[in-house]
Amino acid sequence: MEAKTHETTQQEEACSPAACDSCSSSSCSAASQQQGENQQQFEERRRLTSRLCRIKHKIIVLSGKGGVGKSTVAVNLAMALHIAGKKVGLLDVDIHGPSIPTMLGLEGRQVMEGNGELQPVDLDGMKVISVGFFLKDQDEAVIWRGPMKTGVITQFIRDVAWGDLDYLIVDSPPGTGDEPLSVCQTMEDADGAVIVTTPQKVAAVDVRKSISFCRQLNLPVLGVIENMNGFICPKCGELTAVFQSGGGRLMADDMGVPFLGSVPIDPQISEAGDSGVAFLQRYADSQTATIIQSLIKPILELQ
Ligand code: ADP
Repeated sequence: MEAKTHETTQQEEACSPAACDSCSSSSCSAASQQQGENQQQFEERRRLTSRLCRIKHKIIVLSGKGGVGKSTVAVNLAMALHIAGKKVGLLDVDIHGPSIPTMLGLEGRQVMEGNGELQPVDLDGMKVISVGFFLKDQDEAVIWRGPMKTGVITQFIRDVAWGDLDYLIVDSPPGTGDEPLSVCQTMEDADGAVIVTTPQKVAAVDVRKSISFCRQLNLPVLGVIENMNGFICPKCGELTAVFQSGGGRLMADDMGVPFLGSVPIDPQISEAGDSGVAFLQRYADSQTATIIQSLIKPILELQ
């Protein structure tokens, strides 16, 4: 990992063990050292807990496999919340395919380091951290070994100056393996997961796996989003079914989790993503933008 060091005049208040000392909660898991934990491990855990403590809602975006639009959904949920006036952080820990810098036009941005903290990249007030900021070039293939993966995920939460946030949206690696497991375990008090899928029935198998993954981890499922459901014609705006649809909704109903909605295939989504401008900003008045804005309703209602 590469990070530049610089002097900052206005550092975020560091989340140090000292910050924990001023907290009066005796029920907090970081209030005391656990059995078998050495001093350094205790202090790191306290730093992580005090960091998470300042983030009101943490939402993990999951998918059963890659390419279904998980990052697109993560970016647009974060942007919709940002547009709604919330303080938002967006964390891209999709270590094998960190596409968020490209989607938001942040390629080549450097993450600064100061006071032992990483400063997130600022996008009009939204705080963004991505594995992609630490790669020398976007074609670089990084071979991540087990402990490195867990390390980078924990570090991005514990050592980043997120400050006070209303929402942290986490773009998790796909699947139900070690990497999403690490994300969910690190964000131990997350509000829940949003599961992204495509509408075909074959994709429903992946949704089932993702839901049972969340259940095993006691992570609430906030809902399923079906992406690429039908095609919106850029000329006439008509919605045409492309795949056999409804797999995500059927599976959500069958497994008793909320269905949040369907996003159509809209060429403007991929065009905005490829040109590095948030879709919701460039095409704010489009039919698809209205659909995406409606997906955050239950997220805005979280207590
Ligand atoms: P994942 O994170 O699941 O691997 P991405 O979000 O990176 O998937 O999306 C893969 C590609 O599909 C990107 O080029 C993205 O712009 C495009 N895409 C995603 N959702 C849509 C959509 N609803 N309409 C059109 N293109 C989409």
